[in-house]
Amino acid sequence: MGKSGEDPGMIREVTASGSHREVGRALGRQCKDQALRMEKRWRRHIEHTPGMTVDKVVALARQTLPLSEAFYPQYVEELNGYAEGIGLKPDLVYAMVCDLPVPGRGCTDIAVNSNWTKDDCVYAAHNEDVEPYNYKDVAIVRVKPDDEPGFIGVSYCGIMPTVGMNAAGISLTGNALCPNDLRPGIPKMFPVRKVLREKGIYQALKASMPEGRGHSFNNIVSDENGEIYSVEGSATAFDALYAEDGWLVHTNHYLSPRMWRFEDNMHTRFSSIVRYNRAKKLFKHELGQVEVSTFKKVFSDHVGHPESICRHPDPDLGEEDQTATIFSVVFDLTSKVAWICHGSPCTGTYRKYTL
Ligand SMILES: [Zn+2]
Repeated sequence: MGKSGEDPGMIREVTASGSHREVGRALGRQCKDQALRMEKRWRRHIEHTPGMTVDKVVALARQTLPLSEAFYPQYVEELNGYAEGIGLKPDLVYAMVCDLPVPGRGCTDIAVNSNWTKDDCVYAAHNEDVEPYNYKDVAIVRVKPDDEPGFIGVSYCGIMPTVGMNAAGISLTGNALCPNDLRPGIPKMFPVRKVLREKGIYQALKASMPEGRGHSFNNIVSDENGEIYSVEGSATAFDALYAEDGWLVHTNHYLSPRMWRFEDNMHTRFSSIVRYNRAKKLFKHELGQVEVSTFKKVFSDHVGHPESICRHPDPDLGEEDQTATIFSVVFDLTSKVAWICHGSPCTGTYRKYTL
């Protein structure tokens, strides 16, 4: 057991409620050790970037703050509270969120509506693939700000959700993309967090792709009615891919022909291509009988190892270049239940978490 009584093999669980400032402060206090580790890594990364200093990065990030404040001031409040909770300067915390070191190379996603599931539930599911050392820096969060429905998710250092589902039945999952049109703008973490405050699919889609963004994930936005969109964004363009047949798969390259020209370097996307086609093929096989165990089956697949759907560190690569599936999650939007697997899906168990 760790010093806070938690099992070191398990992802920590934290909760926060109240005003956005109070939410941030509570998350900061509970994840201070994680935040300070992230800060250390972030500083080291900047030191190794020619021509860059921490002051320079902070100053560059500050230029985008007005845009972020106009888009979602409540999250800026949360970040300010978070800075208080850990005892760092707000400018520094904002800059770390802008220059997010994670997620980088991976993630496989599947979403499916009730037409194809055994129990008539809508599911949004996700494998989180990043550098293996990130495992100790994620937290399962239950966040309930006064003016929002509240969500359960998995967040880096408690404050940067990578996936989540809210009490209104909206989920945000998705994957990293490498667009070639990056610019100073709203950091890609802002839309992710804002989707989790929305109560309907229209508002959630709008939140997923703000004008003035500097970067973007592929944001998969789903609701309890089985409306499922994969919103492939770059900084300046996007396409909203609809799950026309009631299900979709996404990995880490642009699928929409409209977005192909924004792909930075397709030659680095072979793991993504393998995982995409493999997940599609395996999942197609399960249509009509999908349940929670179906996702474990697909997400544990090792074809293409080590860069397979269930990813394991490639021993031939250095620590910074390795990728592993550090957790996996299945959101049941109908029952509002999250099934979270700590560590590799091939060996782990999906545990049930309620809002
Ligand atoms: Zn595995």
